[in-house]
Amino acid sequence: MTQLLEFTDRGIYCARAGCYIDPKRVVDRAIITHAHADHARRGHKHYLAHRLTVPILHHRLGKKISTQAVEYDEEIIINGVRFSLHPAGHVIGSAQVRVEYGGEVWVVTGDYKLEHDPLAGSFEPARCDVFCTESTFGLPLYRWNDSATVINDINDWWQNNKQNKITSVLFGYSLGKAQRLLASINTSIGPVYVHPAIEQINELFRRERIRIPEVNILSQSVLNEELKTALVIIPPNAMRNGWLDHAGEYSTAYASGWMATQGAPFMRNADTGFVISDHADWDGLNEAVRLSGAQKVYVTHGFTGQFARWLCENGYDAQPADV
Ligand SMILES: [Zn+2]
Repeated sequence: MTQLLEFTDRGIYCARAGCYIDPKRVVDRAIITHAHADHARRGHKHYLAHRLTVPILHHRLGKKISTQAVEYDEEIIINGVRFSLHPAGHVIGSAQVRVEYGGEVWVVTGDYKLEHDPLAGSFEPARCDVFCTESTFGLPLYRWNDSATVINDINDWWQNNKQNKITSVLFGYSLGKAQRLLASINTSIGPVYVHPAIEQINELFRRERIRIPEVNILSQSVLNEELKTALVIIPPNAMRNGWLDHAGEYSTAYASGWMATQGAPFMRNADTGFVISDHADWDGLNEAVRLSGAQKVYVTHGFTGQFARWLCENGYDAQPADV
């Protein structure tokens, strides 16, 4: 008997409906949880995603791709299989995918966090028989402090740099982390500059009436003097391209869950780090599994083996799934 969802070399597949969730190879029909590159890939014939994810898909994958935008909780029926998207709290427009057929319910989380995010909204638990959870931070050493405390630390770091006429450079992904930081930091401390790649995403969300604060755009013509009191937010990969060659003295920081363990190797050249993540921490992952009500759990993306073993030791029928 085939399962409602299968883990194939192209990704999570619903054979009855003929569609994949966040497929990693080119397929005809893809349901996309969110627009990060490891979930939304180029080349599919058709994309279905939340209404706030679709503009980002067009921006990143091409204006001409075929898309269908849906709201949270809106039901799409394909060959008798009922699909619906539910808030994942990861980034603006991110969704869990609920799949129901013949009285059986599966939920695929995509990336998620349980902590409320003023822009990305709140993770909404969906009861199911089978829960497919990510496990990016699926080890007990990953536990986040309250984000308000971390934001205060960022504000203090910026204020201190400003007093010393040192530019504060904060690395954050252009989709998600950058908007969350902009909506949370104390913008009265000084001017805020963002990399153009971040502003492009901001602009797409503003068009959808998401309130992203207005900021300055970093360019080669921004004067050294203007940047001395500024907070500059740039994507991690922008450092290589000489964006700060004219910035004078500056201090760098990563805003990432990886900073809980001194950061990934590429982060270790930053001066400091702030532990703030758009993924669930260890407690969040366990809570999400509990809230799902599922006994059967598949663990994807991250510490799959370790988290699945932990769940088995705690009474679940869990196994890692490579997708
Ligand atoms: Zn993501």
